[in-house]
Amino acid sequence: MATSVPSPTQNPVGFPAGTVLGYPRIGRRRELKKAVEAFWAGRTSVDELEATARELRLATVRRLVDLGLGADDASVPGSFSFYDQVLDVAASLGAVPSRFASLLGTGPDEAGRLDLAGYFTVARGQGDDAPLEMTKWFDTNYHYLVPEIGPDTPIRFVDDRVVREFVEAKEAGVVTRPVVVGPVTFLALSKAADDAPAGYSPLDRLDDVVAAYADLLRALAAAGAPWVQLDEPILVTDSVDVPFADLAAAVESAYRALATDLRPVPNPGSSPDSSADPAATPGSAQDARPAILVAAPFGALQAGAETAGGAARDGLALLAGTDVDAIAIDLVKGAVPTAADGGVPGLAGKTLVAGVIDGHNVWRADLAAKLDVVDAVEGLGAGAVSVGTSTSLLHVPHDVEDETLAAPGTASGTTLDPRLRDWLAFADQKVGEVATLARALTEGRDAVAAEIEASRAAVASRAEASGVVVPAVRERAAALTDADFARGDYAQRAAAQQERLNLPPLPTTTIGSFPQTPEIRRARALWTKGELSDADYTTAMREEIARVVAIQEELGLDVLVHGEPERNDMVQYFAEHLDGFAVTANGWVQSYGSRCVRPPILWGDVTRPEPITVEWSSYTASLTEKPVKGMLTGPVTILAWSFVRDDQPLGDTANQVGLALRDEIADLEAAGIGIVQVDEPALRELLPLRRDDQPAYLDWSVGSFRLATSGVEAATQIHTHLCYSEFGEVIGAIDGLDADVTSVEAARSRMEIVPELRDAGYSRGIGPGVYDIHSPRVPSTEEVTELLELAVKSIDPRVVWVNPDCGLKTRRYEETVPSLEHLVAATKAVRATL
Ligand code: GLN
Ligand code: ZN
Repeated sequence: MATSVPSPTQNPVGFPAGTVLGYPRIGRRRELKKAVEAFWAGRTSVDELEATARELRLATVRRLVDLGLGADDASVPGSFSFYDQVLDVAASLGAVPSRFASLLGTGPDEAGRLDLAGYFTVARGQGDDAPLEMTKWFDTNYHYLVPEIGPDTPIRFVDDRVVREFVEAKEAGVVTRPVVVGPVTFLALSKAADDAPAGYSPLDRLDDVVAAYADLLRALAAAGAPWVQLDEPILVTDSVDVPFADLAAAVESAYRALATDLRPVPNPGSSPDSSADPAATPGSAQDARPAILVAAPFGALQAGAETAGGAARDGLALLAGTDVDAIAIDLVKGAVPTAADGGVPGLAGKTLVAGVIDGHNVWRADLAAKLDVVDAVEGLGAGAVSVGTSTSLLHVPHDVEDETLAAPGTASGTTLDPRLRDWLAFADQKVGEVATLARALTEGRDAVAAEIEASRAAVASRAEASGVVVPAVRERAAALTDADFARGDYAQRAAAQQERLNLPPLPTTTIGSFPQTPEIRRARALWTKGELSDADYTTAMREEIARVVAIQEELGLDVLVHGEPERNDMVQYFAEHLDGFAVTANGWVQSYGSRCVRPPILWGDVTRPEPITVEWSSYTASLTEKPVKGMLTGPVTILAWSFVRDDQPLGDTANQVGLALRDEIADLEAAGIGIVQVDEPALRELLPLRRDDQPAYLDWSVGSFRLATSGVEAATQIHTHLCYSEFGEVIGAIDGLDADVTSVEAARSRMEIVPELRDAGYSRGIGPGVYDIHSPRVPSTEEVTELLELAVKSIDPRVVWVNPDCGLKTRRYEETVPSLEHLVAATKAVRATL
């Protein structure tokens, strides 16, 4: 009898054999985006929005059950959010910055709580009250809102939306597993409130946050939730300011309070004797909690080597030492953890969820290979092993079946080569893969032999398919030598370029795009639908280019651009013009809030069937005597904003894109274009989360840029543009790109980047943005002058260029033209002082 008594460290209910860590919430046809935007525009009421969201949530949980997850075993994740999962935690705690305090309710029922409109206000700002800052979610293209936490920030469990959503699904017949960002990750990703004293860390509020999570867990237990998932991806990264020892202490303290001090609700079914044994029942309902799954996606929990902080980190041992009931690990980014004989101490009483299905990429898995990984995990000594996705499925589109297929060899636009459909797994297909693997665990591999064979065949057909490996591409890559990655001496280049371009001091230019007007969008929409002919579309775009050139001449800018009217998106445009890429019709992925992107799929060796930008640039050059800057997107950014093939190192793929761009640059050069800008706004974005992995990344990423840009003559000037000012770990890499001119965001940080780059040894051309294009505000000539003076004081004025922070495509002409007038006037003023 003693053996059947559940102790707090035993699973009160078994964890399901298979699960996914989260599911897209925007809707198969972006229903949530449309509903939220209609609410923002005042076209619908809050009740209508809530009703649409409810329908979407219920459709989602039912769909997950149809796809093979259990309806009653907590394998269906409850991972809905109206905007962002980090903001959701802040909202459930009432933890908003003081500038939004007036949005918190005061009545007895809503004390300290945001209503839905208030929630969106914190996300999007209002008047002078800036929204929460937005930043990248680990190494994904999803962006979360950064909570601001100070000593006085309210922190209490005030909003039980998570509980209500659990009850809603349960009443509809599906017992979900609510998914919440864990307390340590929440605080580690927060920033100190503006009024916090020096040295303050949001983690100082851990006890308050944990007390609120304890209340949430009690409420979930009372509502009958058997499991809750707390996401703690912070444990896989080195790229935060918090040392691992501090994170570890926070994890121990948080999960002592949540997992040890609260006790799991016993499962009456599995332990018939326990209810009769007073020692086995929880102290009181007050202390009951659901079983806890801690998920650690986006990388290995164990660090491969000593980290900069000193001690090696082992997040798996750390979590195994707590009383949580299950741990989900990422076995796509991370290798199978190592353990001494006898396994990881503490793991015997826990379920290990083996994250073998890639939640972050779109390729169909070889299920037998995945089962082999699961087998390897068995050696760690967990009480039980389940299968899961490596991350939430938030990062992949809904369903491959939503794509339109083209006949083989005729795929174009957004119809998909049918071979590709068989190779791909979007969220719904991945749920199916997990369900199959779960059956293999419970019923044996033979029970799913047909599915295993089909997956093997699909993976094999992809490996052998024409276009996946193009011998000419391979031969060209194999023949590359160091010389292909290097340009000549910079001093000689600079002299040759000055002779050719004859630019004044402080040359003025823009970052590339001009406003994408409603007329441009309309023309593109009609053309895409086939209602505007190719010729008419080209004419419309040429007229736009002519307008943009005339405006720039009128303004007196020194280096002109064509304005990029023909580009729907800086990555998709190139993907559509290169072989080896496919684009989808419905493959939307949430980027932030209601914003979605449709990343291209890079599936084969990359080639450039014909020049892409040359005609546009040549036409532009024919309209003006001034130098025209050609405009390309760099290899790293093209990779970062696409789904990339997983069958070769990223660096090899990057070099293939680099070679295609190299050919494009050669053609631009041959057409007489003297300046080419290669944008790499994502260089920082792809930086690995683990310090150990960063040098290799910087090596191939910088290499692919240099491969693209090093084929030109000394007199051809290469520019690059980066969309940020906090270079951090990549500052050395910026110099390594060896561009002749680098433009960066700088206005909001008041040119700080200029001395930083100088001190890092950068000495070539630099274009610090002199006004912030992210806001419609028109800067005065005085403001721009002041910033420009700051720049020329901190670096040799001969290297300084003058440009806005970023492209102008999201702005309107009403603000663009006066802003650029002020930029030119400020430049003249500062030139006069040199
Ligand atoms: N050339 C691009 C533009 O101006 C650069 C965009 C970017 O940096 N994100 O739009
Ligand atoms: Zn930019």
